[in-house]
Amino acid sequence: MKRICTALICVVLLLNLSSCAFVDSISNQKEITRTFTAMNTVMQITVFNTSEGTNEEVLNAMVSRVEELEKLFDPNLSDSDVYKINNAKGVPAGKAATDADKIFLDEDTINILMAAGSNFDETGHAFDIKLMPVIELWGFDNGTYGVPEDTEIKNVLEIVEKSQLDIYSDEKYIVISEGTKVSLGGIAKGFLGDELLKIAREYKATALLSLGGNIVLCGDKSTDDTWSVGIKNPADTENLACSFKSKGNKSVVTSGAYERYFEYGGKTYHHIIDPKTGYPSDSDLLSVTVVGENGTNCDAWSTALFVMGKEKAVEFAKEHNSYDFIFITKDREILKTDGITDLKVEDEAFKIKSIPQ
Ligand code: ADP
Ligand code: MG
Repeated sequence: MKRICTALICVVLLLNLSSCAFVDSISNQKEITRTFTAMNTVMQITVFNTSEGTNEEVLNAMVSRVEELEKLFDPNLSDSDVYKINNAKGVPAGKAATDADKIFLDEDTINILMAAGSNFDETGHAFDIKLMPVIELWGFDNGTYGVPEDTEIKNVLEIVEKSQLDIYSDEKYIVISEGTKVSLGGIAKGFLGDELLKIAREYKATALLSLGGNIVLCGDKSTDDTWSVGIKNPADTENLACSFKSKGNKSVVTSGAYERYFEYGGKTYHHIIDPKTGYPSDSDLLSVTVVGENGTNCDAWSTALFVMGKEKAVEFAKEHNSYDFIFITKDREILKTDGITDLKVEDEAFKIKSIPQ
């Protein structure tokens, strides 16, 4: 094992906001923004207006929900649910589970695990939260990056392939096989976004959430009922590749190799792992953006479709036509589904192609 340390490189989707009023014309309230760190990334919430209470109340309710979920999902916090799972003994192979093997969890954790399980099936196992032992081996869980030996990866992949997680949702517990560990890194921000969107709906608020690469557009803007969203240029992350218009109450989630990576021996190793090999996915895509009402699915799918690569990702997009997709490929194409309107290329090197759904 060669272990090295480099700075964590984490970038958020750029957002190009047009015509946002400083004082909202309906509620006569000042927009309010808070920027903070949570779930290992920078988050920013802006509340533009609400017809139930004040912008500050909406913001505080959202930040409290972020804190609640972070306490459950932080793998390094010794009383979090994820810590509980990852430090449980688990049922040894060939043994039957007993009451002592039941791991009781908060309802939120049960819900995210169920969503992860259905996305494991939906993506043909390209999305797999049980990859945690492999993620740990590369140091992507805590930034102690290193390039493992082939045999180490093989051995850990065998453990992952045998690992099992059974959910008993009514009684709110799970049972895991020995060696099972989970990483919610590919889905937690999507789940969080959905929870915050619920709060925005309760307060009838218009808000913009930027949750470390995940954007949630809550409500419609009062001056113009579309939002303008920019997608980072994966080849030049200071700039945009393209921008498009979207209606509100949607999540826009992007996964790309450039989001978190380290360099060693002249090679780049990024954080999206191919469950078939245990190595960073050798994808022909540079980034995958998924737009839809269910941000949890958008998050899991953006990670999974990156792993699947262009051909399978295009098939997946065709089969899921209540969502929209933008794939930026290594050969400088921007593939987009028809629901993506007003797509503007910001870098002439990219050519737009349509994916019929
Ligand atoms: P980001 O966290 O930058 O938004 P993603 O949503 O694509 O990026 O999630 C990547 C994270 O998910 C990784 O850091 C790792 O914790 C986890 N992960 C990596 N590969 C997979 C995979 N194939 N399936 C599920 N989770 C994964
Ligand atoms: Mg994801």
